[in-house]
Amino acid sequence: MKISNKEKTIFPLLVVVLLLVSVYFWYSMRNSQKDLENSIAYVEGLEKLTGISRLGSTHEHADLKIYVDSIPVDLSQQKYQLKSKFIHVEDGDGDVIHKHAKGVTLGMFFRTIGIEFKKNCLTIDDKKYCNSGNKKRLKNLRIMNLNLSIKY
Ligand SMILES: [Zn+2]
Repeated sequence: MKISNKEKTIFPLLVVVLLLVSVYFWYSMRNSQKDLENSIAYVEGLEKLTGISRLGSTHEHADLKIYVDSIPVDLSQQKYQLKSKFIHVEDGDGDVIHKHAKGVTLGMFFRTIGIEFKKNCLTIDDKKYCNSGNKKRLKNLRIMNLNLSIKY
């Protein structure tokens, strides 16, 4: 069998291309392994820093009702539903909080649905409701501010 001049130049070129492709894949694999190790270290570091365990580490329920001026806030509205996998209200129900990771707090739940508690004010849907003097619009605000863990 006679090897043509054209084939003589294609074979070395093919070997070089295959080598480059192999090096590329080896390098990509090495980097994705490093990314994975970094992600695991990141998650483990955050678990230690925050005290929040992984999803599914618990499944607890707590009843909740927020009243502003004696009117209940309707958390069954779509805009409040399933805002976090860690803690949420779901299935069109606004009265039961589902907590799916140890260490998640009630304060975190409020953050996920855009409710903010300050010393004497509650902000919800960008409206601010504040206690002032004898006008107590928010009962139990102090309790909410403690960032309590939910225990059932
Ligand atoms: Zn549940």
